[in-house]
Amino acid sequence: MSDPYGRTWWGRKWWRALETIGLNYPDQRIVKGRTLAGHAAVTGLSIEPGSVTGRVSDGNGTFAAEIRIPVYNSSAWAAGMTALSLSPSCVAGLLAGRLPKRIDDVLAETGMRLLPKKFVTEDHNRITTSCPCADNREVCAHIMALALVSAAKMDDDPWLVLLLRGGPTRDLAGRLRAARLASMDAAQPV
Ligand SMILES: [Zn+2]
Repeated sequence: MSDPYGRTWWGRKWWRALETIGLNYPDQRIVKGRTLAGHAAVTGLSIEPGSVTGRVSDGNGTFAAEIRIPVYNSSAWAAGMTALSLSPSCVAGLLAGRLPKRIDDVLAETGMRLLPKKFVTEDHNRITTSCPCADNREVCAHIMALALVSAAKMDDDPWLVLLLRGGPTRDLAGRLRAARLASMDAAQPV
């Protein structure tokens, strides 16, 4: 049976990142979150730079849940795009409309990372959450449901992952080309 949430490596990594900040298998929050996600309990999903928000309803009410992650500024992204533009496999992947598997290895050259690894503690990879429900764990069932539903959305549109981190989402081909030309000019002897 295929998992409808995180069919892509990036979608999977996104919701798994949420598990790692507060939950371990087996945890009822994971089971309940998955049930809520499967019953269309998440409405008004929005993915914006630095935040994923949505309203999650269950028998106890409707909760405005939010997952936050730091964004990189435009100069960080300019360096990131240059690094990506010099990686043929990354350029090919991005132009084919998906996030290449090596993207985080390449971005790491400039100190960036799109999708947090397990147990990362750097500030720029720190995920935080908020949900007004009675569960005071960092990841409640509502946050889990929001993570799963947003992962499915990212599966369909990988640029949402870039958007979430403050990155460019339009004219990637043009930007990659411009970044590569600029770095070649910079390397040119005068
Ligand atoms: Zn909650």
